[in-house]
Amino acid sequence: MTAYESIIYETPAEKVARIVVNRPEKRNAQSFRLLYELNKAFDAAAQDDAISVIILAASGPDFSSGHDLSDTDRRQALADFDTVGTWCGFGCAGAEGRMAAEAEMYLGLSERWRNIPKPTIAEVQGRCIAGGMQLIWPCDLIIAAEDASFKINPIEMGVCCAEFFHEPWELGVRKAKEMLFTADFFSAQEAHRLGMVNHVVPAEKLTSFTLELASRIAEKQLFALKLAKEAVNGAQDLQGRAASLKLGFSYHQLCHSHNQEVFGFPADMTLMKRYRGGQTK
Ligand code: ZN
Repeated sequence: MTAYESIIYETPAEKVARIVVNRPEKRNAQSFRLLYELNKAFDAAAQDDAISVIILAASGPDFSSGHDLSDTDRRQALADFDTVGTWCGFGCAGAEGRMAAEAEMYLGLSERWRNIPKPTIAEVQGRCIAGGMQLIWPCDLIIAAEDASFKINPIEMGVCCAEFFHEPWELGVRKAKEMLFTADFFSAQEAHRLGMVNHVVPAEKLTSFTLELASRIAEKQLFALKLAKEAVNGAQDLQGRAASLKLGFSYHQLCHSHNQEVFGFPADMTLMKRYRGGQTK
């Protein structure tokens, strides 16, 4: 992969890298290329000793509308990019190929970014939907504009939860269930109240507030920052987060397989909407 097409990489302040998802005409839908450019940019920031803090931002009115569903040729895509996992077999038929591709691109990349030892901060404006959550949840801190709103809607596609199953850790178990069951939008203020968002700021101050926070963190000793992150992430993993990721991912794959078996591929959405279990008519 050569130059970036779907992201911008910049260094707006000393020790701070800022990665901007840049497909505003597509509401920053995540094409396969965008995901691997993002991964490359995260790697560049992680490998640069002059960088201490990484900001993830997005251009345009909305942060991200989720996965780009027009991108379907996973076999070709994963041949073009430097993959990061060991599942492989992305072109295999049925659940084998789909699970491998989603383990690589969705669960695998998000978990990889969650484990970058340097502090990461997401700055979020407008709508952040479905796969968009899998870009911001891996970040250590989330700053939201007052106009930001969030939606976790796999249930509308007949799927139980995100590939990167972080809902209970982000929202608490009771609200995680409500957001999954209803697929309703929830506001920046609600996300803040639930602890998913660190700060809510006026939209016009989003970038400056995030950069100022990043710069203040970047003044601290990097090794201590890395270990602070490792300690908190490790505490979360000791509570079972890493194991529960596999559980959620497995159920997610079961839903895909069920839907393909019952509704075909691409799914007959009219049939899916009528479906109430057992009966397809
Ligand atoms: Zn999926």
